[in-house]
Amino acid sequence: MIYILLCIASAIGAEIDVNTFSNYIEVSQEHVHIEWLLDLDEQYINATSQSIFRVNCNTLKKINLDIYQLSIIAVYLSSSGNVLQHEIIKKGDQSLLQGDVLSIQLDRVYTRGEYIKLNIKYNLDSKGARALGFLTKEQTYSKSVPYLFSQCEDNNCRSIIPLQDTPSIKVFFTATVLVKDPRINVFITGNKLYNMKFKLLNNYENLQALTLYQFELDIKIPAYLIGIIAGEVVEKSTGNGTYVIAEPHFIDEYAEELSDLPVYMKKMQEYIGPYIWGDYKIVILPASFPFGGMEHPLLTFASPTIIVGDKSGVGTAIHEIAHSWVGNTVTGRNWANFWINEGFCVFLERKILSRLNGLDSVKLDAINGNSSAFTSMQTFGLDNSFSSMHPNTTNRNPDEATSRVPYEKGYQLLTYLESLIKEDPFQQFLRDYIENFKFQSIDEDQLYQFLLNWVRKNKQEEAQRIIEEIQKVWKKWVYTPGLAPITIDVSTPLFTEANNLAKAWIDGKGQVPDKANDFQQYKPNQKSVFLQYLIDNYKDVEASVMTKMDEQYKLTFYKDQKTVYKWYRLVLLVKYDQALEGVHDFVSKVGVSSYLKVLYDLLGQNYNKQAYDWFDENKTFYHPVVVQAIEKILQKYPKKLIVE
Ligand SMILES: [Zn+2]
Repeated sequence: MIYILLCIASAIGAEIDVNTFSNYIEVSQEHVHIEWLLDLDEQYINATSQSIFRVNCNTLKKINLDIYQLSIIAVYLSSSGNVLQHEIIKKGDQSLLQGDVLSIQLDRVYTRGEYIKLNIKYNLDSKGARALGFLTKEQTYSKSVPYLFSQCEDNNCRSIIPLQDTPSIKVFFTATVLVKDPRINVFITGNKLYNMKFKLLNNYENLQALTLYQFELDIKIPAYLIGIIAGEVVEKSTGNGTYVIAEPHFIDEYAEELSDLPVYMKKMQEYIGPYIWGDYKIVILPASFPFGGMEHPLLTFASPTIIVGDKSGVGTAIHEIAHSWVGNTVTGRNWANFWINEGFCVFLERKILSRLNGLDSVKLDAINGNSSAFTSMQTFGLDNSFSSMHPNTTNRNPDEATSRVPYEKGYQLLTYLESLIKEDPFQQFLRDYIENFKFQSIDEDQLYQFLLNWVRKNKQEEAQRIIEEIQKVWKKWVYTPGLAPITIDVSTPLFTEANNLAKAWIDGKGQVPDKANDFQQYKPNQKSVFLQYLIDNYKDVEASVMTKMDEQYKLTFYKDQKTVYKWYRLVLLVKYDQALEGVHDFVSKVGVSSYLKVLYDLLGQNYNKQAYDWFDENKTFYHPVVVQAIEKILQKYPKKLIVE
């Protein structure tokens, strides 16, 4: 009884993570080291992890870790080599959603303040490890070497390392990676080491023939920020400690597109304070990478869809840079507080973009973002907790709750707070917030209390009024599903122009409107507003309008993926069959989850046969998390038998 009370006490006042099976409150992981021997041809990894745990309660007998489809060979104490008993506790219907428990029986009772160091030997392969995308050599540009990349967020790290897979726990992360083919270069979250600092945990036959890489990160991170790529990749400096990594064929083109990385870093630091992580490296992945970007420290991942040719897609790079402060330095404690990462990140991203492209352009981004958040809310249901900033992910794979909602409602909340507190003091608030919570994982209530105290201390006679305004909306903003309780001002003539042009096309019923050529001058975010108007009013868009518009703008096979994705949404809604081959081409070349989920949903509704045929064709190209998501969507639209 005392044991239970003592362990729970440390968690009182803070939200727990409902998406981990680990006993992370009783015992916390402090350090994770992995040693992996990669066989990319066989899509197989021979793995050992070594972890240090700190005991937080008076009697600890077991350590429970998260695992997903891992094959565990042995668990033993690092110091003595003594084997510890372990069992896999199957979690029934959660097994394929969130995984199972690796329960380790300790050799004795451990007490508060003691440390335990364990090794776990295990294997991974392409079937179980849903965090890993294994590409065959044929799927790469050079077609000579296979390629591997990971995506651990939300809780997929447990499919590659047995650990406490929760953003509540931050660990020091180090790694040794061994490869058989010397052409394979490896990058993993952390600084590459050249002095072979870590002793090998295993003996390897033909060690001389293997190439070894070691990495170390001296700032603690949560499991979801661990990332790896391995393949024929090279890095190129873009100046001032920034680098681009890609397949050799693309490196010059990508480095050119991202040549302003040092500018973005400088602008971000001018606004929010010093960058503490060392170098900044961004990998442009092969097309099957499922997200726009992923913010692993020192190893940002980005989709090749951000490379448009005119630097118009680089907002993603700015977003990922912003995560170095919000998300990576101060982290949301669980998936319900994901907005603490993303809402703040979008705020910083748009702050910098407004300085580069002007405020009107950023307002268009906010309008587009809100419209995609609203589309997700309609899909979830307007009163579903996933349509709130604080989704209830109990017994769910938190990936299912992923949408623009926390990004945009979080951004809108911060923009509202800035309007109350005023721009310069709010910048100071953000800097103080980072300083106060750096290296911690927090929840919305900690942020809320800090905010109120900050206003009390720094806003003198205005403080009381501002606090009352915040108190009126905060909990509603965070917890109530649907649109934000207060609408922020995003009015801009750019929005009105784009909508008027779209309306003129609909009204023209196939006639080309007077100002039709304005479209070519629009930036992608204004094109997106134009297309969104047509999507929102698709029932009024006649076939002749689609034909003429496609003739005029050549939208099918457009270069910018964000624009063409919206065009294809419209194509599928109005059943403009002439552009269907374009959709086919797109879903076969772009692996971004958010695009594919929407397109397969529309295909399922309107083009059932193509939905199933194209999914079958491309299953091996998509990342495993995307395959799972599309399978779930297609369940809504059972395969129809076509009788010819
Ligand atoms: Zn983000």
